[in-house]
Amino acid sequence: MKILVINCGSSSLKYQLLDMDDESLLAKGLCERIGIDGHLKHQPQNGKPTFDEDVAMPTHTEAIAAVLDKLTSAEYGVVADMSEIGAVGHRVVHGGEKFAASVVIDDAVMAAIEECVPLAPLHNPANITGINACKAVMGDVPQVAVFDTAFHQTMPGKAYMYAIPYEYYTDLKVRRYGFHGTSHRYVSGQAAKLMGRPIGELKLISCHMGNGSSICAIDGGKCVDTSMGFTPIAGLPMGTRCGDIDVSIPDYLCQNTGKDVTTITNELNKKSGVLGVSGVGSDFRDLTKAAGEGNERAALALDMFAYAVAKTVGAYAAAMNGVDGIIFTAGVGENDARMRAEICKYLTYLGAELCPGCNAKKGEDRFISKADSKVKLMVIPTNEELVIARDTKALVEG
Ligand code: ADP
Repeated sequence: MKILVINCGSSSLKYQLLDMDDESLLAKGLCERIGIDGHLKHQPQNGKPTFDEDVAMPTHTEAIAAVLDKLTSAEYGVVADMSEIGAVGHRVVHGGEKFAASVVIDDAVMAAIEECVPLAPLHNPANITGINACKAVMGDVPQVAVFDTAFHQTMPGKAYMYAIPYEYYTDLKVRRYGFHGTSHRYVSGQAAKLMGRPIGELKLISCHMGNGSSICAIDGGKCVDTSMGFTPIAGLPMGTRCGDIDVSIPDYLCQNTGKDVTTITNELNKKSGVLGVSGVGSDFRDLTKAAGEGNERAALALDMFAYAVAKTVGAYAAAMNGVDGIIFTAGVGENDARMRAEICKYLTYLGAELCPGCNAKKGEDRFISKADSKVKLMVIPTNEELVIARDTKALVEG
């Protein structure tokens, strides 16, 4: 079965077409500037040329139509016609407390995703738009929703509750939800395979470090805690998000700058993190370069990031009363050997011993700890699209 995986943003749409008979990638691409003018970059994996041109996309419906046109075209295509696409899997950011697993989309599911819009006002509407656009263009092809929050629904109350008046939880659903669940689920499964042990008997800590970053404590294959919270701003300092800060700060800033809370919240999301501290940028490569050239704020931002990751790993080792393996994934986790080494300097007390030679090597799923390290350190490239396609296949095939 061939499965189209869709990740819809407010003005963008990322896609991959996978052949699930052998889990191979047939094509991938990105629509940008939807609703503005429109641009499609389509990359077939079968040797046909890349298409990289402006295409009018007044709405997501035209974007999906353009994607299907390219997937089936003689020049850029990878399938003969649309009927070869057996199902569509959608990344949906927020499933609230309603979804602890992926689901086939029907009217009731659509209504439940709508109900979660207040919890993710920027993301869920875009995901809904993507699903509706697929329905409009593809008719009855089954569609599946895979939620960023679902994997975290196994957290116990002591981990997901905030110590604020209980009615804010019951009436307004304020609690820790966590994000990047699809990634944490995938890399923890791969880590268990790499370790050659059943996931049910492992205590793992997964560090997803990209532009957005989160850490997840996974005990016996189930999430027991995670660093992002009610929204993705919580936890670690990130590319542009502040991570955990004293909650009195926004009010203090409003009172002393004359800015309103929306403006401050926007600054905490988009102008903070390593960008805000360094003044250099949000890309860890730029920061590493600047720090190497003597930029002290860039060095401070990187130190703060490594320190926050290490503190959270320590907290989760305590939460699980032990840890067998620590996983690094996503853009920074997979590629930034220097950052991994900085973090691991804090972790020797746990019995996690980095092997510098292994850490320097690039590759797929791999150990970067010494052979006799009590706690295994691993780099596992994430693959959220593959998880979405696997879930979609499993649900559609019943
Ligand atoms: P997103 O959260 O947008 O999916 P990614 O997981 O792709 O992000 O990660 C993006 C981040 O990965 C960028 O901040 C970039 O600096 C970082 N990154 C990518 N390659 C490297 C590298 N070789 N060294 C350091 N950082 C890298």
